[in-house]
This record gives sequence, structure tokens and C-alpha cells, in this order.
Amino acid sequence: MSDFAIARRRMVEKQVQARGITDVRVIDAMLKVPRHKFVEAALASQAYSDYPLPIGERQTISQPYIVAAMSEALQLKGDEKVLEVGSGSGYQAAILALLADQVFSVERIPALARRARLVLNQNGFSKVNIRLTDGTYGWEEEAPFEGILITAGAPEIPDSYIKQLAVGGRLVIPVGDRGSQILKRVTKLSEGDCRVENLLDCRFVPLIGAKGWESE
Ligand code: SAH
Repeated sequence: MSDFAIARRRMVEKQVQARGITDVRVIDAMLKVPRHKFVEAALASQAYSDYPLPIGERQTISQPYIVAAMSEALQLKGDEKVLEVGSGSGYQAAILALLADQVFSVERIPALARRARLVLNQNGFSKVNIRLTDGTYGWEEEAPFEGILITAGAPEIPDSYIKQLAVGGRLVIPVGDRGSQILKRVTKLSEGDCRVENLLDCRFVPLIGAKGWESE
């Protein structure tokens, strides 16, 4: 086994399983995706460490546990169509590609969208569709989605996401102020009726756009 594969296995045991993630599909996906390929070469040796890492443009790839917790919260079985907002490095999109049928991911920063697309293609995740735009509008042409995952912190829940969520589907989104948020899961019970659960405290970079924060 390569050093990276050993580090990956240790990451899954010590950071993911030890903290209560039990969905075997999520655990399996985290064992498979080469996280070190989604960060710059100089940071590859830290790719499996228990913290977020910079990916350029003042953005970050989330801590492995947060990726696992958000992925598990979507409760995917494998046949779903999902939307991610905040492609960043492309790592979370790669995990979603192993958990769902179709993956659509939106990024607002051109350099990140370009690199995520390249790294996903080079590592066998070319089924992920990446679009460069303000993701606070969702991806209307592809809706409805059984799962929507927002990987940037929102001031409130944009109505576009509730509209584009399939009945029975789940939206996982950090909501709060610019510096800290609560990860929420919104389950669409029927048109016009949702259940909202608070999952955990988290810190994401801001969701910037028409239905998010203004840029700094
Ligand atoms: N999921 C990523 C990490 C995301 S960091 C990964 O696995 O690496 C948050 C990302 O959200 C940043 O890349 C940021 O540019 C992006 N973002 C912020 N607001 C956005 C918006 N309105 N639409 C699309 N992307 C947005």
C-alpha cells in the first residue's frame, strides 16, 4: 500500500469512524478518493490531516470529518441527482460522485472551477458537471435534486434551494454569520412543508452571491 493509502486509512479510522460516521458508503468513498490530488503538491503530505487546507483564492478544502458528516447527512443511496454549491478543489464533488448517480457542482471563482474540472477528469471523476456561476441561484435547468449540498456559509437559506429540492430530498447547508455557522439539514416533506434539523457547529468560508453575502 502507498504511504498516501495508509494515511487515508488512518484518516478514516481516527477522524471519521472514531467520531461516529457509520454510513459504509461514505466510509468507502473516503477510503477511495485520493484527497492529496486535490491540494497543491506542497500540501500533499498534509492532505490527510485533521484540518482544512488552503486551495488558493482565499478558499479552503474542508476538514475530512466535515466532508464525511455532510455527505452522511445527505443519506444518499446511489441513484440520486445531487447539486453541490462551492466546487472549490473538487474533492467533495468526487466523494459525491461515488455516492450518487449524477453530480452537478457550481463554483464562482474561475481559477478554482478550471482546476477542479481538470483534477476530477484526471482522477476518473469526469461524470461531475462543473459550472462557473453564482450558485446561490442553484442550477434550475437540472432541478429537481434529491440532494443539495452547500459548502460555503450562508446568511440564510436561499429559497432557490428549497424550490430545486425534490420532495423527499435533503438540503445540507451551513447557516450563520460570516465567521461561524450551524450545519442544517432541510428535508422537503411535501411542496410547502420542510423539516429543519441542526446538525453541528462549523466554520465555512462565506457563500458570496445574490442570495448570499456581498463579496469582501
Ligand atoms: N467543496 C469544496 C470546498 C469549498 S470552499 C472542496 O471540496 O474543496 C467554498 C467554495 O465555495 C469556494 O471555492 C468559493 O469560491 C465557493 N463559493 C462561494 N460562494 C459561491 C457561490 N455563490 N456560488 C458558487 N461557489 C461559491
